[in-house]
Amino acid sequence: MYGQQTYIQCGKLVDTQSGKILTNKTIIVEGNMIINIEDGKSTSRRNDVTIIDLSDKVVMPGLIDMHVHIESETSKNKYLEPFVLNDADVAYNAQEIAKRTLFAGFTTVRDLGGSGVNVSLRNAINAGKVEGPRIFTAEKAIGTTGGHADPTNGRRKELMGDPGPAEGVINGIEDAAKAVRQRYKNGADWIKITATGGVLSVAKSGKNPQFTEKEMKAIVTTAKDYGMQVAAHAHGDEGMQRAVRAGVKTIEHGTLMSAETMALMKEKDAYLVPTITAGKYVTGKAKIEGYYPAIIVPKALEIGPKIQNTFKNAYKTGVGIAFGTDAGVFPHGENAKEFGYMVEAGMPVMEAIQSATVVNAKVLEMDDQLGQLKKGFLADIIAVNDDPTKKIETMENVVFVMKNGEIYKK
Ligand SMILES: [Zn+2]
Repeated sequence: MYGQQTYIQCGKLVDTQSGKILTNKTIIVEGNMIINIEDGKSTSRRNDVTIIDLSDKVVMPGLIDMHVHIESETSKNKYLEPFVLNDADVAYNAQEIAKRTLFAGFTTVRDLGGSGVNVSLRNAINAGKVEGPRIFTAEKAIGTTGGHADPTNGRRKELMGDPGPAEGVINGIEDAAKAVRQRYKNGADWIKITATGGVLSVAKSGKNPQFTEKEMKAIVTTAKDYGMQVAAHAHGDEGMQRAVRAGVKTIEHGTLMSAETMALMKEKDAYLVPTITAGKYVTGKAKIEGYYPAIIVPKALEIGPKIQNTFKNAYKTGVGIAFGTDAGVFPHGENAKEFGYMVEAGMPVMEAIQSATVVNAKVLEMDDQLGQLKKGFLADIIAVNDDPTKKIETMENVVFVMKNGEIYKK
């Protein structure tokens, strides 16, 4: 007895483990798994197998983006949305975003914060009801009062209220533990904290430290108890350093990272998630009058242009780089632009691809199932037209997408 098999004949195959491009291989997929990789253009004597001819394409594992906001997308009306959209509206929008992300070749994403619709979306995708990437979600990000993830920043007093740990706003170590436990209860896979101010919140500082180190330690310790790791949004160095010392796994953006923090990250095996695409996009939009609320503009113009250079320095210093874009801050589906920006800043193409595959699989603790085309791994497989080491823009035009053994685009 056999299950349904698919033979994918690959002209070129990117071996993300060795960093080599292999030629003329056939990947055999059964169910949701890669069951073998054979030399040459294999076919089967069985007549019920599907043959996919990608002999003029470059095939690689499905890409992983460590920083998206799958529920929402930038627009001039973004700041009005919480007052006019119901969860159902958010969910219908997110369904289209999820499909766009998957069709761009991103078969796995880590979603770093939304309203909670992200958990339902993940479940619907896993149940096969909606087309989208495999999602690891942080549900609602955790911040402090007035901090980057306080959902009521900038509102008039009656609408500000005093959101607490249930809504992801904490003050003190008891709140910290409670907020993490609530995320676990709500179905989160990861914990996201906003260790410093941020660009797009309606608040003055884009870089001040916003948690005490004790609060962050309480978050990391509690998350660990529940089998979760912590991602920390950070632009300013002080908040970033506290977060790394507290044991977070990834630093998002990392804009004003000092040499001392880079050394600490290497020591603690923490990764930088660069989000260069978001930095560039926000800088551009801040120059259009009225696109963002006025309080955001100077922050965007200060922080946005620095992100690519931080990536460059961190990479040169040997900090681990986990590919991630902050899609949602710019249009979803354009995630692969990040490859070009990474290469422009000095990272070799193959390392950028490894960052989005093997490295991210490791950070997600899925490195025995994702990030490589290998026997026994999940069948997340994509293809592009050209050799990316010669033409990096080809990553922005993914022509074949298989996730979990199922073909979505060909
Ligand atoms: Zn973000």
